[in-house]
Amino acid sequence: MKPQNWSRRDFLKTAGVGGIGAMLGSRVADGAETDSQKHPLVPTRPFGRTGIDVPILSLGGMFDIPNNQLMLKQAIRMGVTYWDTAHVYGKGKSELGMGQFFKKYPDERRKIFLVTKSPDRDPDDMTRHLDLSLTRMNTDYIDLFFMHAFRNTRPLTNKVRAWAEKQKAAGRIRLFGFSTHRNMEKCLSKAAGLGWIDGIMMTYNYRLMHKRKMKAAVDACVEAGIGLTAMKTQGGGQIRSNSEKEIALGGRFLEKGFTEHQARLKAVWENPQIAAICTLMSNMTILMANIAAALDKTRLSAADLHRLAVVAETTASSYCAGCGDICEKAVSADIPIADVMRYLMYAESYGDRERAVACFHRLPENTRRTLAQVDYNEAERRCPQHIPIGHLMRRAERRLA
Ligand code: SF4
Repeated sequence: MKPQNWSRRDFLKTAGVGGIGAMLGSRVADGAETDSQKHPLVPTRPFGRTGIDVPILSLGGMFDIPNNQLMLKQAIRMGVTYWDTAHVYGKGKSELGMGQFFKKYPDERRKIFLVTKSPDRDPDDMTRHLDLSLTRMNTDYIDLFFMHAFRNTRPLTNKVRAWAEKQKAAGRIRLFGFSTHRNMEKCLSKAAGLGWIDGIMMTYNYRLMHKRKMKAAVDACVEAGIGLTAMKTQGGGQIRSNSEKEIALGGRFLEKGFTEHQARLKAVWENPQIAAICTLMSNMTILMANIAAALDKTRLSAADLHRLAVVAETTASSYCAGCGDICEKAVSADIPIADVMRYLMYAESYGDRERAVACFHRLPENTRRTLAQVDYNEAERRCPQHIPIGHLMRRAERRLA
């Protein structure tokens, strides 16, 4: 069969998920050219009303990019031209790795929708971060600049708006927005009313997408023309429940030709309001498995989506929904419960203990010391996911301290 005649199914069946990476990776290593005529490219969607189309799959840049340059080349060849990094990823190595690539292949820069993020809230500090990001990445503009990790929209001041407009006018950024994995619904709803936010990256997955408040927040952003990128789409919680329902569902998806991981991506793509999914792809096999899911035209059936919703419901207590405003107001000490839950998720669901420990140690010493002693009864009573918060805070203190 000639490559240009491949359907998505043929593409998957011929090599299998692991084999695809090896197959195409060897082409790259050989220096043989592939082009869009010879294999399918990841499809694109409009990014809000910005006038820009982006691939539905975005390369999450939290991996060792300096030593994985081949993956960037491969991502471009398959149409994964939306790249996401942040000032802090890998203590700067992520941006430096992308810069290394653009230095070697300067013509590739214009193909990439490049995102970076600053943790700062003060415009002067953001300017310093933007300067450094541009230098590190060997580029003179960022396509989308995010303020990083919002828990609310208070940082979106008039000064910040003026800063964003100035950077756009100078051609240093094309679009402006923020990322959030806490209180996402409130952040999205507020941003939709501002009129000057171009894009948002938020935690969004099969567990959250059907909730009334999330649906309303997404609707409001779409109405406002804001481009939306979903992250943390696996809905992994701090506990791997491995319930019988989840295992049975995984088997059902495998029968249909994709893994449970791919099915969770597809569940998010079922919503056309989401422009793209940003996900960490730390090696060629994961990159190609995600590309295979993006190319797969098989739709999840209504029954599949219903089953996912049932699993989300029955395993809710294994997933922290990031609504820290609810539980954190119910404890006597200043404990960032939602953040600590996320660090546990990094360690126990993602297997990234190093990142979890690093995040945990950025908490104030007093917080780390008191974490396990606080009374969480009222917080547990209010938690909509019925999470055993006290138990998990003590576990975090034991495992991440
Ligand atoms: S522990 Fe419960 S209330 Fe607190 S952020 Fe997580 S889901 Fe929300």
